[in-house]
Amino acid sequence: MEHIRQLIRTIPDFPRPGIQFKDITPLLKVPGCVREATHAMITPFREQQITAVCGMEARGFIFGSLAAQLLNTAFIPLRKPGKLPGQVVAVAYTLEYGSTTLQMQRDALTATDKVLLIDDLIATGGTALASCELIEKLGAKVAACAFLIELSDLGGRAKLTDYAVHSVLDYPA
Ligand code: AMP
Repeated sequence: MEHIRQLIRTIPDFPRPGIQFKDITPLLKVPGCVREATHAMITPFREQQITAVCGMEARGFIFGSLAAQLLNTAFIPLRKPGKLPGQVVAVAYTLEYGSTTLQMQRDALTATDKVLLIDDLIATGGTALASCELIEKLGAKVAACAFLIELSDLGGRAKLTDYAVHSVLDYPA
């Protein structure tokens, strides 16, 4: 995975001072690397009868939709407010840089669903925890959360003690 790590660049002070932004766009440019990264994200969960992958807007869509294809499951987008038509459920939460809300369509999941949550990166864990709450609002079960990048010094994993958490690349501060 070291070649994947080398395709992730750190942009200091973006989108605001003090944030070390992990930019995955160089990784997206190299054929096969998104697939390889996504494989590593989902490998522990292949035998877990996952029925749906939920991905957070926007970079969670890149890895999440491919994860759903590889696992042969549904893909459910978790979106920023005002993007999804019809009835939605919502959870508000705080980010490493600001606060926001995530929404999901009310009929996206049912109590029979077993979900793998996918995002590119876990920092403070607020986004992932809010996403788990959203999934559980619809009665579905969160089987696990998987990330390409973990900023482990920000302690996100400690927010997700109720869930299995897997990350491919750790970036301690
Ligand atoms: P958090 O809720 O603090 O775990 O933040 C995770 C979400 O914010 C993910 O959707 C990331 O894409 C984004 N994010 C947070 N911090 C960073 C960072 N340092 N570099 C890139 N993306 C980040």
